[in-house]
Amino acid sequence: MTSVTTKNRVQEYLVIHSSDPVLNASEIGRTVGTSRQRVCQILDSIGETRHKRQVKALRHRCPVCEIPISRNAKHCKEHSVKRQERKEGFNYLCRSCSQYKPLEQFAKSNRHFSGYETRCLICKAEWQRRYNQTRKGKESHLKANRRSSRKYPERVRAYYQVYKSVRSGNLVPAEQCEERGCRDTNVRASHTDYNKPLEVRWLCALHTRRTDTPRVSHVSSKLETQFRGYIFEQIDHTNSATRWINALKRYYCQSDISYSLLIDAINSPEPIPGLGRQFKIKARRFLDSIIKSLD
Ligand SMILES: [Zn+2]
Ligand SMILES: [Zn+2]
Ligand SMILES: [Zn+2]
Repeated sequence: MTSVTTKNRVQEYLVIHSSDPVLNASEIGRTVGTSRQRVCQILDSIGETRHKRQVKALRHRCPVCEIPISRNAKHCKEHSVKRQERKEGFNYLCRSCSQYKPLEQFAKSNRHFSGYETRCLICKAEWQRRYNQTRKGKESHLKANRRSSRKYPERVRAYYQVYKSVRSGNLVPAEQCEERGCRDTNVRASHTDYNKPLEVRWLCALHTRRTDTPRVSHVSSKLETQFRGYIFEQIDHTNSATRWINALKRYYCQSDISYSLLIDAINSPEPIPGLGRQFKIKARRFLDSIIKSLD
């Protein structure tokens, strides 16, 4: 039992240092040969407090009301200066190239207070190009692509339909951006509804981003909703059903699940990635409940 001996050694250390005003957990760790975290755990468990750092009183205060504020703040929330909202048709400063540019030249962003990024599109693209060439950039690009195509299979499907139609000549890309007044000839297909994959507008990069693309226009089938609801409410209040549904779709390459798919998966002799014993038990119970409700 190593933890007992570690605890004993820490206690021995405490006996020797019983008059110290402050204890250094890292040092104790080095002395008794364990991690700082383990030492803290032991000290906490025996009610020792001398190793805890005293929280220094916040020295930063709001100049108006004297409320303590964080290190980087200038005022408290109430007294901070509200920045003006950005308006279409005005020019704003790019923090990167220090030029004033119209608002259309800034990407929208939820992370920023103003609702727009601080760098202009050109600066951002420049940075992105350089980042994408690094190993980390390539990896994260690939990951993001995989994640989004897993999350929005209907989007991948829609773009694939467009790609096929363009290749076969059934769909002809526009010569220039379809947004009024835009002459950009570098256009791409932009959907308003992924369930109508061939209803596209041809837009430039800027206007693709400017139009409100459908967030998720994917409508779950009735069975999917039923399955999800059953697992969540009747069984375990987790989102396991969503995970299983995605695993099913991936394995069978389907965009929707069906009864026969569920039955196939339950009876599948070979293991399906992401679908274990729990899935089989619960999916079977789900099917039983449906059969019962039909009687
Ligand atoms: Zn204040
Ligand atoms: Zn710039
Ligand atoms: Zn355009």
